[in-house]
Amino acid sequence: MIFSDLDAPAAPGAYVLWLRLGAPLTATAGKVVATLEPGDYLYCGSARGPGGLRARLARHMLKDKRAHWHVDQLTLAGQVLGAFIVQGGDECALNAALDALPIPLPGFGSSDCRRCAAHLRFWPKGVALPSDWENARKAVETPPPA
Ligand SMILES: [Zn+2]
Repeated sequence: MIFSDLDAPAAPGAYVLWLRLGAPLTATAGKVVATLEPGDYLYCGSARGPGGLRARLARHMLKDKRAHWHVDQLTLAGQVLGAFIVQGGDECALNAALDALPIPLPGFGSSDCRRCAAHLRFWPKGVALPSDWENARKAVETPPPA
C-alpha cells in the first residue's frame, strides 16, 4: 500500500485506489445515476501511458483538474487515502478479488470493460480485504507516528 504518488513506480500496472467520501455524492456512469453514501470506496484502474502508475496516481490526487473519468467525481468530492498497486497487473483481476464487496453504481469505471459490472466497490467498515491489502486500513486506523 502506498500513501503518496511519489512512492509509485513510473511503470505500467494496475491499482486499487482507496477513496473516502465525507458526504453523499450524486454520481453518474453514463445514463445511470446513484447517490453514493459517505464512506470508503475502492476503485480499480490501470495505467499504461507515459509516467505509468506514478503519473496516474498523481492525477488522482490532484484537486485542481477537469473531470474526465468517472472516478474523477470521487477524487474531486472526496479524499484519496492511498492505493494498492501491482506493477504489470490487471485491473479486472484486482476487481475480481473484491467480488464480495457491493457495487454502488453499475457501469462506473468499466464502460470499456466487458468482464466487470463496475470498477468501483463500496468498502463497508470492518469488511476484510485480501490479506496482503489489509495493512492499509490498519495503517489509517492506527496512524503511523509522524
Ligand atoms: Zn474490468
